[in-house]
Amino acid sequence: MSTEFWKEMDDQILADLYASRAGADFIEEFVTDYGSRFGGSEEERKAGAFLTKRFLELGVDKAWTESFHCHGWTRKETSLHMTAPLNKEFACIALPNCPAGEVEAPLIYLGDGDPQTYADNRDRLKGAIAMVSTANPAFYYRGMHRGEKLGRAVEAGAVGFIWMRGEGGGIPETGSARFGQNCEVPVISISLENGMEILRAAKHGKISLKIWSNNASAPTTSLNAVGEIKGKTKPDEIIIVGGHYDGHDISPAAVDNGTGIAVIMEAAKALARQKGRLDRTIRFIGFAEEEMGLLGSEAYVKAHKDENIVFMLNLDCAGNGYFGKMTLQGWSEDLVWLKQLFEQMHESHIKIGDAIGTYSDMYHFSAVGFPSGSYASSNPTNNGGAPRGYGHTYYDTLDKLNPRTIQLDAILVAKFIMRLATIDQVPFCRKTPAEIAQKLRQRGMEEVMGYELRKMPDEMKY
Ligand SMILES: [Zn+2]
Repeated sequence: MSTEFWKEMDDQILADLYASRAGADFIEEFVTDYGSRFGGSEEERKAGAFLTKRFLELGVDKAWTESFHCHGWTRKETSLHMTAPLNKEFACIALPNCPAGEVEAPLIYLGDGDPQTYADNRDRLKGAIAMVSTANPAFYYRGMHRGEKLGRAVEAGAVGFIWMRGEGGGIPETGSARFGQNCEVPVISISLENGMEILRAAKHGKISLKIWSNNASAPTTSLNAVGEIKGKTKPDEIIIVGGHYDGHDISPAAVDNGTGIAVIMEAAKALARQKGRLDRTIRFIGFAEEEMGLLGSEAYVKAHKDENIVFMLNLDCAGNGYFGKMTLQGWSEDLVWLKQLFEQMHESHIKIGDAIGTYSDMYHFSAVGFPSGSYASSNPTNNGGAPRGYGHTYYDTLDKLNPRTIQLDAILVAKFIMRLATIDQVPFCRKTPAEIAQKLRQRGMEEVMGYELRKMPDEMKY
């Protein structure tokens, strides 16, 4: 494919998307009409149906929903009570998949929860309630997800878990406990301010806390929303651009992941105008149930594992800032090619690297061996105490959006996907689950996924 052909398409994509705030307007409509789109809720299913309708309005060839069954969870009431050395009630929320029940136990605080601190407190954790901050560990070589910090505490015998936000503001931070199943022990979140007040009570004696909750869980149905532009000459070679449209029940989820969905919709709009000129098939997918454990993308991969998916690009918190990062998910041999492609696109300011991420919707695609990558953007204002910013809180609101960066990322994604859809040969090779599992093991991720009660790619039944 000639670079003149691409240049002409780039100009049209730019003309269609640049001087617009359609992405931000879409998120406003989406959040206003469908709320938090919590996994398994009626709101979520309606939001999925709406996305397919919108895909058709944007000019794709076909759109449909694909439903699946999974574990569902409903928030009810939760309380946190200090029973010693003082008698006091603290505001808290349950993390999704927190079971109903009551525990009373001494408190063990693990700070930012690096593995050494877990090891040092191992004997004391048995029968205790563990409290850990959302902050990235200051003295560890990598970040640690909530799932790992929780899993390490439960493995050590903790009977309850408190997820304390690592940054002030008086708000707790949500995030599911366990992937697609209830947690073994009650799991709640509190603000930094409440956490610090609890810890100060240690001056008066040993701290004992009581957690009570009556959340409900039952099987539910969710749906992935798909829009497709059929390829002209190589329709069986499929490129996927996806991201999750569900959010956390306590949050408008405007950035995480309203922005990613807006980038998908804007890219779909621009690419649908070029549909006669695209060789490969492009599928735009809004995944359900990501926040509850990547359940929508897992169901999709299981249903489509025999297709020829030549690349999957995941957008989780794309459109969110001027600093973009594209991460291949185990295809480091293609980084030189990708870098050259981005130079040709005049997008060489985007950081490019390779690392398998296990916490968003690209994961099951890479785990089964489909070439995949993720793209997100941000602004470097985060101090590390709350790595998600306002994500997963009450305040992931519309006012956090930057309409301009949504459009810029949609332009980037449309230009990139247009090239993948028209280049003579896509260089990424299909891999096996065993090859991806080996890469995860090399990075020490088998231990982490074990703490999280997750199977390695070569142990999964796809
Ligand atoms: Zn997300």
